[in-house]
Amino acid sequence: MKLFETVKNNVTAIDVVSMAGFKPNRSKMICCPFHNDKHPSMKVDQRYFCFGCGAKGDAIDFVANYYGLSLKEAAEKIASKFSLSYDNSRDSDCVQKEVVSKKNEYQMWAEKKRELIAQLSGIHERLRKMKSKYAPKDREDSNWSPLFVLAETEFTYVDYLYDYCMFEATEDELKGKYEEITKEMERIEKRIYDTESGIRGSDVGKIREGLAV
Ligand SMILES: [Zn+2]
Repeated sequence: MKLFETVKNNVTAIDVVSMAGFKPNRSKMICCPFHNDKHPSMKVDQRYFCFGCGAKGDAIDFVANYYGLSLKEAAEKIASKFSLSYDNSRDSDCVQKEVVSKKNEYQMWAEKKRELIAQLSGIHERLRKMKSKYAPKDREDSNWSPLFVLAETEFTYVDYLYDYCMFEATEDELKGKYEEITKEMERIEKRIYDTESGIRGSDVGKIREGLAV
């Protein structure tokens, strides 16, 4: 067993306050060492809690605060005082760290994935609206808005990407395709932007023409 686990399983707050020279009364109360306590206001049991100042914790917290030690130093002090043996190998430290970094990696990926899906869903919605807003009013009308053409072609593609990310791809496949899909969305967003600017540009041209006439 590791140091902290060993100490927590074997030593209570009562044990350590007694070690520090306090004598809990029949109600397991002592004068709190963390504030100017005239009458016993700290309850000690498995853990300690002070009704006066709110100080609380377990055996390790008490020793750390009382002697001004780090939690690790406090746990070591207790282990030595109570002659507890514990697993001191560095191996398990490394395993612990690896687990922590794996967890962070997972959280970071979950975040990226959420953003990707949100972005896809945003473009999906935008293209869907463009498709209906710029649809040619007349079937015979051959003069289609470039925005409609764009929405028509990209919507199906984005629809496919969205389904792929949401339902089809495994986590690993999605990780592998992440950069590619992000680039595709940037490309589509740029295309929308360029097309809209182009239309604004030509509108300005038309207005100028109109004024000239
Ligand atoms: Zn107190």
